[in-house]
Amino acid sequence: MSLLVSAFAVAFSLLAAITPAINLPGGDSRPEPQYPAPPGYLLPWAGGDIHAVTQGEDTSFTHNGLAAYAFDFDLNYETVVAARDGKVVMAREDSNAGGCSAFFAGSANYVVIDHGDGMASLYLHLAQNSVEVEVGQMVSAGEPIGISGETGVTCSDVDGGPGPHLHFQVQPYVEGKYFTQSQPVAFDDISDNDGVPGYGVSYVSANFGPGKPQKIKLTPHRVSREFNPQAVPLVRGLEQADPDAVPPPPPAPEATATETPPPPPLAEWFITPETETPEPTPTETPLPEPTATDVPSPTPIPPLPTATHTALPPTPPPPPTDTPEPAATETPTAEPSPEP
Ligand SMILES: [Zn+2]
Repeated sequence: MSLLVSAFAVAFSLLAAITPAINLPGGDSRPEPQYPAPPGYLLPWAGGDIHAVTQGEDTSFTHNGLAAYAFDFDLNYETVVAARDGKVVMAREDSNAGGCSAFFAGSANYVVIDHGDGMASLYLHLAQNSVEVEVGQMVSAGEPIGISGETGVTCSDVDGGPGPHLHFQVQPYVEGKYFTQSQPVAFDDISDNDGVPGYGVSYVSANFGPGKPQKIKLTPHRVSREFNPQAVPLVRGLEQADPDAVPPPPPAPEATATETPPPPPLAEWFITPETETPEPTPTETPLPEPTATDVPSPTPIPPLPTATHTALPPTPPPPPTDTPEPAATETPTAEPSPEP
């Protein structure tokens, strides 16, 4: 009899070994997260869903300095998942403060996952009380870790007000630091452009999670890119500011040279709300620099349901010969923040 039981046990073990894991309701058949994690990052939202890049890497807006290789994705209070297996080493969810101002630099909720190879991933601006993981917990790629939100320095690309999104970056793991120098990253579920997300492009995530069938072909990107950030921040003094600290008040407005090259589209809608306006033009919205009179924000990003990625129509650059408005010389300088 015991022989029969043993035979059954062996047969069951063999069957289990050759059968793909199935995520049964109430069951716990998911594979254990690996640590150190196997190489490769996947987009940090649910497999099959589509999201767009609202700020790419190496910008003069907020993705410079520590955040030079960060990406913002248009997750509007939506589930954020781990991009790679690892261990949760830092998490915060108590903040309910955020807005388009450096004042909120120390107010972001976040999760940091250590991948065990010296690198960690940072998920920033999470909604209050939305974090679903605890420090010390092992997580697999694709596991929900929280809900995106607008805590910390978050700016909408529509009106310069608060704007919920996910800020994601890969950075060296430094104990006790949630925000360190971001590093170039590529995603295995982006087949083109060496796996690097492009500004304004929508992508379908293949991050289906443990135990789920993989429905999208992955393209491993294992050639690391050179660390060579180029962007020049609008205000150099904030370039390496500690995101934990509230930065000093903005510098006094200075004259803007007429030959200053136009800022990238994202910079046009970054407006510091509390800056005093010394000029007499009451109806003018202060802009960082003389710009064309077109609408300051790019058109909303329309995700396509079927394509793997879709390029947005490029934002037309401001006409180079534009004459600055008379008030331009007294326009307050826009103040980028260390956020992201
Ligand atoms: Zn960001």
